[in-house]
Amino acid sequence: TKVHVGRALLSVSDKTGLLDLARALAGRGVELVSTGGTAQALRAAGLAVRDVSELTGFPEMMDGRVKTLHPNVHGGLLALRDDDEHLVAMAAHGIEPIDLLVVNLYPFEATVARGGSTADCIENIDIGGPAMIRAAAKNHAFVAVVTDPCDYQPLMDELAGLDGSTTLAFRQRLALTAYSRTAAYDASVSAWMAGALQQNAPRRRAFAGKIAQTLRYGENPHQKAAFYTDGSGRQGVATAKQWQGKELSWNNINDTDAAYELVAEFAASEGPACAIIKHANPCGVGRGATLAEAYGRAFDCDRTSAFGGIIALNMPLDGPTAEAISGIFTEVVIAPGANEDAKAVFAAKKNLRLLTTDGLPDPRVGGLSFRQVAGGFLVQDRDVGHVSRGDLKVVTKRAPTAQELEDLLFAWTVAKHVKSNAIVYAKDGATVGIGAGQMSRIDSTRTAARKAQDMAEELGLAQVPTIGSVVASDAFFPFADGLIAAAEAGATAIIQPGGAMRDEDVIAAADAAGLAMVFTGQRHFRH
Ligand code: 5GP
Repeated sequence: TKVHVGRALLSVSDKTGLLDLARALAGRGVELVSTGGTAQALRAAGLAVRDVSELTGFPEMMDGRVKTLHPNVHGGLLALRDDDEHLVAMAAHGIEPIDLLVVNLYPFEATVARGGSTADCIENIDIGGPAMIRAAAKNHAFVAVVTDPCDYQPLMDELAGLDGSTTLAFRQRLALTAYSRTAAYDASVSAWMAGALQQNAPRRRAFAGKIAQTLRYGENPHQKAAFYTDGSGRQGVATAKQWQGKELSWNNINDTDAAYELVAEFAASEGPACAIIKHANPCGVGRGATLAEAYGRAFDCDRTSAFGGIIALNMPLDGPTAEAISGIFTEVVIAPGANEDAKAVFAAKKNLRLLTTDGLPDPRVGGLSFRQVAGGFLVQDRDVGHVSRGDLKVVTKRAPTAQELEDLLFAWTVAKHVKSNAIVYAKDGATVGIGAGQMSRIDSTRTAARKAQDMAEELGLAQVPTIGSVVASDAFFPFADGLIAAAEAGATAIIQPGGAMRDEDVIAAADAAGLAMVFTGQRHFRH
């Protein structure tokens, strides 16, 4: 199963590490064959190389669209070396075996990411490269195929250890990488076309990602896991720079994402905001005159749960906020930047991960979200739903006051990021009670109120903070009971989608309790 490498075909767009590899191969007496640009780079470095056009008897043509698409190339990659008929065919047509293929593809993804024109993107769809990769990978019994410069060193080590040969196990691993690469490549073309044709809806397109990190384990220690990026370049945990602390875990990544997506709903231009997340649900969200104040107000919603939480900020982290955060154990802090004072404060906290990005995720930019089910996966547009004042319909006798209205919209935005059934009590730009993930809306309403009561006791407050608060419900109240429970907890105004069969009853109960209620006409289930 060991195969000696006698001839290599090198055709790479990304020339990183090319010369070192080519020198190592040449040093072992491997004959090098290359396409135009690659051959030029090798010759410039003084290496002997055969042009692929000499092999094919055709010039490279049509702007490079046709370079390697020829039986002398594909026969050399695909021929079974232990099959007499194949050997006869090779001899009859003068096909020389190619034992090693080194290819990386036209930078299609990068062209899309930098906003290339349609013509540009199309020209960057590599045809001959994937064809060769797939051929070589199919024939991995005899051919080694390298598609990622990260594998150059392992290849050189392999050849060095086996006197110029590769093992089947090594070629199998490379073939797996190769097919992952061509699949991801075509998926990115498919996604781009879906977008270009305004069909970025979850229809008729392929999905793939690029492995970014193998994780120590998944949601639980007995689960293997990895992190893939989707190539969209969306700001967030996938683009973040980690300044300190241990490697992120599966749960850290999941929660950091939830935290950042939530806080990004609050534009920095509208003032500082902070979200603290536990198990993908917020346990506190606050706004304030300063970032430190916003953090403090988020923290005060549920200090118990905030321990070991994930914190996201909508502005660059500063020293005072870092000091405040340092008061308890926190797993991760993510922000669109951090100043030197903040980094100095955190330097002493070895276990805290600090992540920064170049900007906030854009909450209005579309994309897809995925969920796995047995035997398949569900795909939908990201929830970019948003309501503003003009969209709200007052349905009670009393209209909300200006302060209530502001808090209603704040609570509504938070509720969008709370698992259903979601109930959020808020006051003066901070959450004061959050009920998440309960199977009945009334339970979420009661849970949130009880947590507020617990906090009032812990902080020694004169009154429970739900008194004089507003409440958001991610979906309609099916019965009046949830609304009555909120009123009993002291809420004065409600925001909810409306649309229940018993809306009349719910509105009547609100009027009876003197509440102001607005309907959004839009729901934010999150499961
Ligand atoms: P070079 O820089 O050597 O001129 O071109 C290298 C690139 O050409 C590689 O990315 C390789 O995948 C691609 N390539 C090789 N053969 C063909 C072909 O026949 N058609 C197209 N479109 N691309 C090819």
